[in-house]
Amino acid sequence: MSAYKAPLEDIRFLLEAFDYNERVQSIPRFEDFDLDTAMDLLEGYASFCVEVLQPLNGPADAFGVKYNPDDHSVTTAPGFKEAYQQYAENGFTALPFPQEHGGIGAPVVVSTLGSEVLIASNKSFSMCPGLTAGLIDSLEEHEVHSDIYGNADLLPKLISGEWAGTMCLTEPQCGTDLGLIKTKAEPFGDHFKLTGTKIWITFGEQDITENIIHLVLARLPDAPPGIRGISAFVVPKINDDGSRNPVFCGGTDHKMGIHASPTCVMNFEDAEGWIVGEPHRGMRAMFTMMNAARLNVGIEGVALGEAAYQSALSFARDRRQSRSLAPAKSDRNAEADNILVHPDVRRMLLEIKSTNEGLRGLVAWIAMCYDLSHHATDEEEKAKASDLVALLTPIIKSYGSERGFDNISTAMQVMGGAGFTSDWPVEQYMRDERIAMIYEGTNHIQALDLVGRKMPMHGGRLMRVFAGEVTSLIRECSGNEALAPFVAALKTESKRLNDTTMKLGAVAMSDHEVMGAVASNFLNQFALVTLGYVWLKQLSKVVDRDESDALRRSKFQTGRYFFELVLPDAAGYAAKVAVGKEPMTDVDVDLL
Ligand SMILES: Cc1cc2nc3c(=O)[nH]c(=O)nc-3n(C[C@H](O)[C@H](O)[C@H](O)COP(=O)(O)OP(=O)(O)OC[C@H]3O[C@@H](n4cnc5c(N)ncnc54)[C@H](O)[C@@H]3O)c2cc1C
Repeated sequence: MSAYKAPLEDIRFLLEAFDYNERVQSIPRFEDFDLDTAMDLLEGYASFCVEVLQPLNGPADAFGVKYNPDDHSVTTAPGFKEAYQQYAENGFTALPFPQEHGGIGAPVVVSTLGSEVLIASNKSFSMCPGLTAGLIDSLEEHEVHSDIYGNADLLPKLISGEWAGTMCLTEPQCGTDLGLIKTKAEPFGDHFKLTGTKIWITFGEQDITENIIHLVLARLPDAPPGIRGISAFVVPKINDDGSRNPVFCGGTDHKMGIHASPTCVMNFEDAEGWIVGEPHRGMRAMFTMMNAARLNVGIEGVALGEAAYQSALSFARDRRQSRSLAPAKSDRNAEADNILVHPDVRRMLLEIKSTNEGLRGLVAWIAMCYDLSHHATDEEEKAKASDLVALLTPIIKSYGSERGFDNISTAMQVMGGAGFTSDWPVEQYMRDERIAMIYEGTNHIQALDLVGRKMPMHGGRLMRVFAGEVTSLIRECSGNEALAPFVAALKTESKRLNDTTMKLGAVAMSDHEVMGAVASNFLNQFALVTLGYVWLKQLSKVVDRDESDALRRSKFQTGRYFFELVLPDAAGYAAKVAVGKEPMTDVDVDLL
């Protein structure tokens, strides 16, 4: 069995394909991070993940976490604490954050592509720096009103990795519908006292960092009901005088996957907290945290999809079963042929490879847009990038997590029974990936965000920006004979997407039930067209190479599979969208 290898070649290719040096390194803030420097950084990061974190992954899955009710402590898997210290000492917690707070100041696209390798190596471990990074993003944009826990006090400790962060939204009676939050925050001098119970809080308690900063949603006494009455607070585990703030872990959940990531009940018992941003406007701080997190959740699918693909390919290269359907291709010197002769095994591998390389490209493009949306010097480019991030983040989260799970399942199928056993890591990947469709807003909530918010936003401007990108790429590639079939396929599907969008826009805005009924299928249709764009971009960057060039051959055979066998599914999703709401709304729920 060969171990997971970081896909650094593809990452470099994608950074080049989306003109990293011209578009990102040219920004003064990133002048020290040219492509070679970025790749050096990623190589060091990847080595650490693969050599230090990956060996802990299987044993940590078996260990899980241990909760001690006597002191409410949580013990994480052997090696996690030491690995985290090394991770922080190497500056990895600080990668994309501003140098003024002790960060390294690398572009987000670099750290985002790096996080694929982190997650593939050890997803449970990755949740701790992942959530902390989300908190840092939030604190960079929203002010904490505190003399002791102000932004300038918190950011350096979080960026250095000395402290970690959590996100405390969910309560027993509310997950998706955060308007139902009951946790209370009572004013007390310059701060607040928080009381209530949060559930399923990732790394809510741990033995890895000396302090934990919880970002908590709660209600002030005068709060209006619903989502408009929610405020955000930072609540430290340890007070600045070293005493314990009364926020205690009440237990950890047993769950399907990410066993080594503690999922905690957190009880706030008059815990001291400081308000973030304005009263009743807490969702803003939480959304900043969640938007970055949503991108990362999509990458979880790419990461574990890639790791599963590598296992399946390595298995398939060795496994011999049956004879080729084409006798001339049979190896008569052996008792049976290698399973790679079977078209269906190739189909499964290409299904994974083509969607995964498409998704990785989409992540690279949108993470680059994230950097441009914050730091581009040209205002028009900045606005365009910001529109693309807003529009395509729900697609990355939802399609990335769903495809990732399907891809791992397909990898298991390539391996037959071996993939189902714990002799191989694929069954763990499958268990670890499933949650990605649920947390950070379920996939359907992403679809509602896409159709209900992003599509109509600014009179449809975001959709026009996306369509403009597709049209200009099609124009650029037209006339190139080798690209002609792919240009034609993308043209057909982007026109179909445009038609679906127009029809949906007209109906869904007046009948929200239609929107709810078709949004998930629409998101999938949109995702496939987006991947079509990303694939054409990739092919356009290798088409001029010699036809014997290995990368050109690999991208062309994989891209061809995508255009001929994956993209056509977009028409199926469009047909489902056209059906509307009746098959769902007309049913008698008593008969379900
Ligand atoms: C392992 C794990 C880690 C987690 N980590 C954290 C964390 O760190 N912090 C935190 O705060 N939370 C965390 N969560 C909670 C997670 O974010 C929620 O599970 C998620 O938001 C969904 O909420 P729910 O489970 O209550 O599902 P529900 O909201 O009850 O949804 C159930 C079903 O109804 C659907 N539904 C709900 N509302 C609508 C609607 N308006 N329209 C259509 N369909 C709808 C959903 O899509 C879903 O299919 C974690 C959960 C798990 C399992």
